[in-house]
Amino acid sequence: MISARPRLLLATRNLDKIEEIREALAGLEIDLLTVDELGPLPEVIEDQETLLGNAVKKAATLASLSGLLALADDTGLEVDALNGAPGVYSSRYSGEGATYAENVAKLLSDLVGVPSSERTARFRCVIAIADARGVETVDGVCEGYILDVPRGSGGFGYDPVFLVPESGKTFAELTLAEKNRISHRGRALARMRVVLEKRLERGS
Ligand code: IMP
Repeated sequence: MISARPRLLLATRNLDKIEEIREALAGLEIDLLTVDELGPLPEVIEDQETLLGNAVKKAATLASLSGLLALADDTGLEVDALNGAPGVYSSRYSGEGATYAENVAKLLSDLVGVPSSERTARFRCVIAIADARGVETVDGVCEGYILDVPRGSGGFGYDPVFLVPESGKTFAELTLAEKNRISHRGRALARMRVVLEKRLERGS
C-alpha cells in the first residue's frame, strides 16, 4: 500500500544519530526514511567551514537528489582549553577516517595536565531541513566538562568523556531518552519538531 503520509529523508548514514533522531521525532505524522533505504546516493563531502554550512549543504544536496524533504545534522565539540577545537573538525580530529576511540584518545592526550575546572566544553548541533522551496535551520547547545577517563558504555563519539554537570553523569551513562532530553541534538530536534509540526498543520 502506498503511504499518504509525508516523507522526511534523514541525510546521514550515522546509525547513532538516526536512533536519536527517530526517538526525538517519534509520534509525528511523518515517515522517516534513511539514505540507505533510498538506494545508492553519493556521499556528501563535509567541506564547509561551519556546522551551519555543512548541515545546509547535506540537507540541500540530498533534497535535490531525492526530491524529498531532507534533514541533516552537523555537530561539533568545542573545548575551551583548546580554543574551541575540535569544533567543525570533530569527526576527523585525529585524522581522516578516525574512529570514535582514536578521536577520544587524541582529545584526552591534548588535555593532559589541564585541571578539571578548566576542562569546560560544549556540544553544538545544527539541524537543517531542505526541499525545493528552501532551507530552515535550528540549533542546540549542551554545556559540560571533559573528564580525564571515559565513563559509561552508551551513546557514541565523545559521549564517554563528556560530563553533564546537572546530572553528574557522562552522556554515555544516560539512556537514549535521557540524553535526548538535555543534549545539543535533543534540544535542536525539539525545535525542529515544532518546525515540522507547523509544516504538517499547513499541509506542506
Ligand atoms: P558530524 O560531523 O556531525 O557527523 O559529527 C562530528 C563528530 O562529533 C562525530 O564523528 C562524533 O565523533 C562526534 N559527535 C557528534 N554528535 C555527538 C554526540 O551526540 N555525542 C558525542 N559525540 C558526537
